[in-house]
Amino acid sequence: MATLNITPSVGYANDQLISLSQYPGLRVPPGIKPREPDPVNFARMSQLAPNKFPAPAGLTVPTDMSVKLKGVWAPVGKDPVQWQFQNGELQLAVTIAVYIIENYRPIPKLFELIMSHELLHVQDEIDVATQFLPKELPKDEWVKKFLIDQSKVDDAAYRNWFTTDKFENYVRDTWVLERNERGKGRDSGPGYERYKLDVAKLLPKI
Ligand SMILES: [Zn+2]
Repeated sequence: MATLNITPSVGYANDQLISLSQYPGLRVPPGIKPREPDPVNFARMSQLAPNKFPAPAGLTVPTDMSVKLKGVWAPVGKDPVQWQFQNGELQLAVTIAVYIIENYRPIPKLFELIMSHELLHVQDEIDVATQFLPKELPKDEWVKKFLIDQSKVDDAAYRNWFTTDKFENYVRDTWVLERNERGKGRDSGPGYERYKLDVAKLLPKI
């Protein structure tokens, strides 16, 4: 069996920590160090979340999800040559960006409410990258076959999949699917409807 290390890393678009003592009503999921969101106006929020109407009060998105396979492959046989994975690292890197409507940022109760919701998304992004993928990817059909069980790859397939970003994009698709599913889960159902009503009650009169 080949040694495949899956190494996730998480970064933040804005690394400044929220001053928690100022926001006693903020609900912080375990293990999360909340970062300040970036304030944006409605027009920008609509651009960032084109499939939501009206523009949401807050938004959490991975601004970068990159997959890099740094592996050692050995040629096996001749005419035709095949390739066999020896060992390596599958690097997963995500940068998390959180946005909030700028008019809502100065209202402490509203900030607490919106960020308590956004931190659930942040928790999901972290969990998918650092827990879900390292556990699930080794069970993925192709990851298992080529990077763990060391099945030999034809030269043409090797060039097509492993010397380009095709395989990395395939892994990334699994990642995107899972984070989208979790995002949809957070933004639907009775809990989400209640959250939107709670936000509406606190909105500044414009
Ligand atoms: Zn949400």
